[in-house]
Amino acid sequence: MGEFELIAKFFDRGPARRAELGLGDDCALLRPQAPATTIAVTTDMLVGGRHFLEDTDPEGLGHKTLAVNLSDLAAMGASPLAFTLAIALPRADEQWLAAFARGLFAIADRFDCELIGGDTTRGPLNLCVTAFGEVPAGAALRRDRAEPGDDLWVSGELGGAALALHRIAEGRAHAAQDAARRRLERPEPRVALGIALRHLARAAIDVSDGLLGDLGHVCERSRVGAEIDWRAVPLAEGIASLPPALRAQLALGGGDDYELLFTAAPQNRDAIEALGRSQGLPLARIGRIVAGAGARVLDERGLAMRTDARSYDHFA
Ligand code: ADP
Ligand code: MG
Repeated sequence: MGEFELIAKFFDRGPARRAELGLGDDCALLRPQAPATTIAVTTDMLVGGRHFLEDTDPEGLGHKTLAVNLSDLAAMGASPLAFTLAIALPRADEQWLAAFARGLFAIADRFDCELIGGDTTRGPLNLCVTAFGEVPAGAALRRDRAEPGDDLWVSGELGGAALALHRIAEGRAHAAQDAARRRLERPEPRVALGIALRHLARAAIDVSDGLLGDLGHVCERSRVGAEIDWRAVPLAEGIASLPPALRAQLALGGGDDYELLFTAAPQNRDAIEALGRSQGLPLARIGRIVAGAGARVLDERGLAMRTDARSYDHFA
């Protein structure tokens, strides 16, 4: 199978629906759907042997390749519009490609995000998506907007994906329907939450590298400090029974959960709690933004907790 046959068979789904022009030309042509909107652009790459093992279920990979990008759009409050896909493949394995495309288009269709182009080459397995979203002008949720006095919130639960990785590293078998493993392989981008937070939150980020590290990015960009109340941090199932140091490492340093971490003025507390109920997604108030720099974790007595929890860094 040649390059163009491969593209036609697995990735070309006919004329674009939302874009002015999709696959097949030198560029795609993309038009915002509403007037007075800003286009949000993000790129994420998944590298075989680094972000996933070469024998990872291809359908899950198709899901995750787009999901991590949709999570970035969610963290800006952007609604998904379209994406491009650049892939390097060691060989044209039709079964692998069919499963990958199935996972990819299932989540693409669910979030109405259209594939409009890409690039295909032979090489070590590498999957790169660039996603485009749309947000009303001035309404994007940026990292640099947190203010002292803001509440600190996080959606869902933390540490599930890191727990699955921990179990894999220990060589422990776990079932495909295991919640932690699902979180690692099929993360759910919080797109509806991000959109609903446009007028409730001040700053936001998605938790991709770990709570402490990602909160650190917000602190740095906003030139503020933050305090996390350890007992308010929502722990994923299976974490609570672990030894304390491991529990803290997974929940505070574990990446890949793709929950939204956001700050908001205290007068929005009731509205945010109501939003969590209406979306069926728990939103936990886990601390506050303070003057100063850096993120601290406070224990049950309000004392600074010493933790070795570290977030993921490719070059550390
Ligand atoms: P060019 O030579 O102009 O870069 P290509 O020959 O690489 O174009 O690709 C042909 C068309 O197929 C382009 O419209 C490109 O966007 C699209 N395309 C290539 N690879 C993919 C892919 N993996 N997924 C979606 N579209 C792709
Ligand atoms: Mg090309």
